[in-house]
Amino acid sequence: MDSSLINHIESQLGEPIKNYQTVSGGDISEAYKLTTNSAVFFLKIHSSPNALTMFEAEKAGLMLISSTNTIKTPKILLCGSFKEWTFLVMEFIASKSPNSKDFKLLGHKLAELHQITSNNFGLTNDNFIGSLPQFNTLNSTWSTFYCHQRLQPQLRLAQNKKLLNPNECPDELVILNRMEELCKNIKPSLLHGDLWSGNYQISKDGTPYLIDPAVFYGHNEVDIAMSLLFGGFGDSFYTAYFNTFKKDKGFDDRIQLYQLYYYLVHLNLFGRSYYPAVAQILKQQFKM
Ligand code: ADP
Repeated sequence: MDSSLINHIESQLGEPIKNYQTVSGGDISEAYKLTTNSAVFFLKIHSSPNALTMFEAEKAGLMLISSTNTIKTPKILLCGSFKEWTFLVMEFIASKSPNSKDFKLLGHKLAELHQITSNNFGLTNDNFIGSLPQFNTLNSTWSTFYCHQRLQPQLRLAQNKKLLNPNECPDELVILNRMEELCKNIKPSLLHGDLWSGNYQISKDGTPYLIDPAVFYGHNEVDIAMSLLFGGFGDSFYTAYFNTFKKDKGFDDRIQLYQLYYYLVHLNLFGRSYYPAVAQILKQQFKM
């Protein structure tokens, strides 16, 4: 890390950094564990031109989740820019791998978060999914929101990047019809929005924390779909979660439909290796 950046962060924190270590695991930013005399902090650094907008959206998402007093998020200390870098400093969560009791509490706490509701789907601001923009224009109808703000922008991007052919992509009416078939009486729940296994932390005392969110109000099953995408969380997570929320008819199809968004994001961010998963869902859900 550049020494002038360290000096700047020290002056913003108001105390010297005794040492710092690289933290691995993120897709987007460089990450570090910072130790001072009084505390341990987590630092993310990015140097892309839109990094400040990204970190501000992350900060706003973490603070929104925290304000619900349901599931914890790390406290934010700094979000700013210095020279070519943008930085985000938050509380460092010393974590452990989860046992079945920890997964149960995570499931219970996520269900509490999902009981925070709103009148509309979306959010008052757009944010990011990975480094891609995520659109959140408010809408009172879930099928319209999911079609216009989630699937269509990613399908368009994949076509522009020549990762999908136009004839592989369902048009608006086909998407809306399938959504309306599968999604009835959906209520807007506050979601993490990018809930894979790298985006929660279990602290040493078993407290679950959410990190790196892409928050919006949406169908609660969207977070469950993402949690299942790369192997899933422990069984006790789902048992605890489904004590509160029921699996209504069409659950498995909706999970696929919601996983399609995340697979499209992966296709657009990381390329062709995600094509087979995307093509399979497009075929199964939309007969493409
Ligand atoms: P990126 O935005 O680059 O994907 P993340 O926010 O996912 O970065 O952070 C990268 C990794 O750093 C995470 O997978 C996690 O292991 C760790 N991490 C993130 N936030 C914290 C935190 N507050 N305390 C401790 N470790 C963290």
